[in-house]
Order: sequence, then structure tokens, then C-alpha cells
Amino acid sequence: MRLNRGYERVLSSMCTYPHPAAVRAHIDHIHTNLGDPNLFPEMAALERRAIAILGSFLGAADAVGYITSGGTESNIQAIRASKLICGARKPNIVVPESAHQSFEKAQDFTGVEVRQARLDERYAVDVSSVEELVDENTACVVGIAGSTALGVVDPIPALARVACDTDAFLHVDAAFGGLVLPFLEKKYRFDFRVEGVRSIAVDPHKMGMSTIPSGGLLFKEPTDFDALSTNTFYSVERSMTGTRGGASVAATLAVLEHLGFDGYRDVVRECMRLTNLCVERAAEFGVYPVVTPVMNIVAFKLPNLQRVALRLTARGWRVSVMGGALRLVIMPHIDEATILQFVDDLREIVKVDP
Ligand SMILES: *Cc1c(COP(=O)(O)O)cnc(C)c1O
Repeated sequence: MRLNRGYERVLSSMCTYPHPAAVRAHIDHIHTNLGDPNLFPEMAALERRAIAILGSFLGAADAVGYITSGGTESNIQAIRASKLICGARKPNIVVPESAHQSFEKAQDFTGVEVRQARLDERYAVDVSSVEELVDENTACVVGIAGSTALGVVDPIPALARVACDTDAFLHVDAAFGGLVLPFLEKKYRFDFRVEGVRSIAVDPHKMGMSTIPSGGLLFKEPTDFDALSTNTFYSVERSMTGTRGGASVAATLAVLEHLGFDGYRDVVRECMRLTNLCVERAAEFGVYPVVTPVMNIVAFKLPNLQRVALRLTARGWRVSVMGGALRLVIMPHIDEATILQFVDDLREIVKVDP
């Protein structure tokens, strides 16, 4: 009996099959523990190499940081760092309304007050709303480079100016987009090349094709990373967890080195080709996206959304209903035949239930 299904017909997930190079490295290092760097010093070196490659994709090859368990840990830790650096008695952070739920968790864990800024008509954060919400107790402004629901990129350079004027940290949540945007033909300004960006969350276990759990938290300045330091009995720890698997680090480095910039560019190009194909075909029967996709995320407007989603599910598709739209993520496990089959099913469903 096969208990676990694979990713066939899965259009709801930001994860995918890990690359075989990642799987091999993961298995080879399954016993290693980065929580004890004295026991596994070579793992710490592999982690620095993985962070350097991620940093090079994100405009700072000398960035520092560590491999986390995912975007949630990266975001919580970035907020924790900004709170420790800020030192205000009642710190707050300003996030877009489109922010991931991990910032709500960060509020609970760190005690910072989360203020939500409005979105504009493009569903990116409205910078004037952010300006209204910041004050002298703002520890961090958060920008999203690829929102979870729509894949929209916030105006990071404008947010960076607000953050600098307020003396606040600017954290960019690029958990998904961090391994998509660098490889697109159209260039977006969202990374360490933007003056004022202090930290970035980027998830190798999403478009990086590493094994789960593999997240990344990068800082431009070592002193910002050092804010997370706690003394252990034998060294200094900057991670959230103590014991943490070196397998994720080995897997991430292996796939980063195996694919390299050109390899990821090819993966992203194919995902974007299929994303655009999906949008074009759906337009033929009057189904349109909420926003023109920037990344390999499509959110379709549908009048009978819940019913359509149920009918798609009955045909074996895994889709998400998010923000009042049918949201699809076209990951590397999706091929052209699958997209065409999906569009045919959607056409039939919409025809009987317009
Ligand atoms: C996926 C995602 C997260 C959370 O990452 P996990 O690895 O699931 O913890 C955070 N922010 C954004 C923008 C994401 O897309």
C-alpha cells in the first residue's frame, strides 16, 4: 500500500520533489548535527558555502546566516534580531497585509506588536500606509518579494527608504521568490543590492529543490547576525533550535552546486513558460488571473470559486483557495501535458458551472 501520494496533479504546494543530488547528500549526512559544531566542523564549512551561494544569487556573496527549518523560522529569527538590535521597550514591526502567518507567530514569540499596512490596487504594499504606521519604536519593516497568495513583489527600494529614515531594520521575505526572481529575464530590485536591506529569508526547500526542511536566513552584516547569539556550554549558537540536522545543509549545498545559476534559470524558465501557457489557455474561456503572474504563481478569479475547487479536487487536482481566488503554483514537477489536462478540466467545469 502506498501511504503517501507524490506531487502528481499537485498545484497547491510551494514544495516539489527534491533534486536527486540533494537526496543523495541528505542521506550521506543524515546523522550529522549542526548544533554541535565541534563534533562536525566540516558541516559548518558546508553551511558557510551554501550561504555564500545563496548570497551570490541575492547580491551579496559575503552575506552571513544559516540554514533554517524554513521560511517560518527565518522570519521569526529576523524579527527577533531586529527587536534585539532596536532595544525599544515596546517595539513594533510593520508588515504588509499580504504577509505570511509566520509574522503573527513572531509577535507571539518576541512580543513585538505587528502592524499591518494596506495593499495598493496591484496587491503590493502601499508605501504611504507603511509611512503612517512606523514610529520611533519600529524595529523592523518587512517587504515581501513574492507573496504566498499572488507572487506579488513589494516595492523594496521605497520600503528601504522608509526603514532607513526610521532607523529600522528592513527584512525581505523572499521565502518563495528568492529562488525565482534572480533567474527571471525581467529584473526586480529586492535583494541586498538595495541599500538598507538587512536580512532576507529564502527557502531552498521550495524552488531551490532541496530536501525538507531547508530554509535560509541571510544577513548582509555579521553584526546583525551576531545579535542572535546565545552562549552554549561549548560555543556560540545563533539558530533557533539547538540540535539541527546537517542533512539539510548538505542537501542544499549539493543542489545549489549541481544546478548553479544557469541550472536554476532553466528550471524557472520552464515553470514560467507553463505558467504563461496556463494563463493564455484559461483566457480562451474567459477565466483571468487577479494579477498578471510575476512568478510561477497564478490566482484565477472565478465566480463559483468553492464549487469549482471542489470539482477540481474530485478530478484529483490539488488546488488552493486563497484570498478569494483559485491559486496555483506551477512547480518543477508540473509538465506541459499536466497543465493542458488541468486547463481542459477547468474549461469543462466552468462550462457547466459558469
Ligand atoms: C512559504 C512561505 C513562508 C513560510 O515558509 P515555510 O518554509 O513554510 O515555513 C514564508 N513567507 C513566504 C512569502 C512564503 O511563501
